[in-house]
Amino acid sequence: MNLNIVCIPGDGIGPEIIAEAKRVLNKTAEKFGHNITYKDVLMGGVSIDTYGEPLTDEVIEIAKAADAVLLGSIGGNTATSPWYKLAPELRPEAGLLKLRKSLNLFANLRPAYLYEELLEACPIKKEIIGNGFDMVIVRELTGGLYFGERRTQEVKGEVTAVDTLSYSEKEIRRIAVKAFEIAMKRSKKVTSVDKVNVLDSSRLWRKIVEEVAEVYPGVTLEHMIVDNCAMQLVKNPNQFDVILTENMFGDILSDEASAITGSIGMLSSASLNDTKFGLYEPSGGAAPDIAGKGVANPIATILSAAMMLRYSFNLEEEAGRIETAVKQVLAEGYRTVDIMPQEKNRNQSVKQVGTEDMGKLIAERI
Ligand code: NAD
Repeated sequence: MNLNIVCIPGDGIGPEIIAEAKRVLNKTAEKFGHNITYKDVLMGGVSIDTYGEPLTDEVIEIAKAADAVLLGSIGGNTATSPWYKLAPELRPEAGLLKLRKSLNLFANLRPAYLYEELLEACPIKKEIIGNGFDMVIVRELTGGLYFGERRTQEVKGEVTAVDTLSYSEKEIRRIAVKAFEIAMKRSKKVTSVDKVNVLDSSRLWRKIVEEVAEVYPGVTLEHMIVDNCAMQLVKNPNQFDVILTENMFGDILSDEASAITGSIGMLSSASLNDTKFGLYEPSGGAAPDIAGKGVANPIATILSAAMMLRYSFNLEEEAGRIETAVKQVLAEGYRTVDIMPQEKNRNQSVKQVGTEDMGKLIAERI
């Protein structure tokens, strides 16, 4: 198969972790007889420095012509980087929002999986997590509060800021369908999260999700209020399989879920539209504090590449091979610094490695 991939290494640790994802993808392609063509483009801070804007129209067109996009990370130190003295629409993150919108990437999938080997890194008590947890958060990505009309105005001498939370039936239905389709391939349970006791948008959300559920009688649907969900994620994360939610709730809950897996460096993500096209990226950011040091964990990016093979190319076996290789390397005791157990919990088999070595170890096990 020919795989046409646009790569956006981006800023900070982005180029380091993308290099390792490419290494693992290349090895997988070699093993399974595929042909990968990469096109590297700029977005974020590097694009600001080169073109004066975080994302050019040319890059959007190049991305549209590809089968999938693999992204490292964009951004810098928000307190010290000159990029954050620019107008909001010229900052690195504006590039990513524009790309998501231009490619109509309305569905964000974030698996939160606790590896048995990393139980130590989970901040929750052992008796609560048992043998770990395995959930996917399906977050609506192009509607709601982050994309609604906003303004700051002076009313009777007092400054007032307004953000609008709006959802249409169509927007809710298409993300709900994605969540139920994913649930069909997993444990067939969807937890839809809303704030139905307060918000009109949540009342519409619940009504449409129930309509979609009728098409999937094999999937169990439950509803949960968002504040309860935030609590349940730390009290009993095992109860969740697929969490379906709107943009802002999903932003917050998926970060909470990532915190209980131990390290953001382990968490992959996919942003999909209603074709096979997707943008795949680690859940973490540019990590300016460790950029250039060769210590970043490349696993989230490598697992994002596996998601790309699964969702954009239907290459289930190849994706599984990458996931198994990651598990094998962890089982053999290799760790980047972010997932090293505390000194008192370390045994002989645990070995600390850098970004490049971790990539090489995984590639060797494909
Ligand atoms: P961050 O995710 O970059 O870093 C938070 C912490 O996690 C840091 O201590 C960092 O060292 C660590 N970390 C992140 N990824 C890691 C990895 N792969 N291996 C080991 N440790 C890792 O979040 P931040 O510091 O709040 O943001 C830094 C910049 O990144 C900001 O400009 C922010 O806007 C941007 N950002 C970009 C994205 C993206 O590209 N999608 C996402 C989040 C943040």
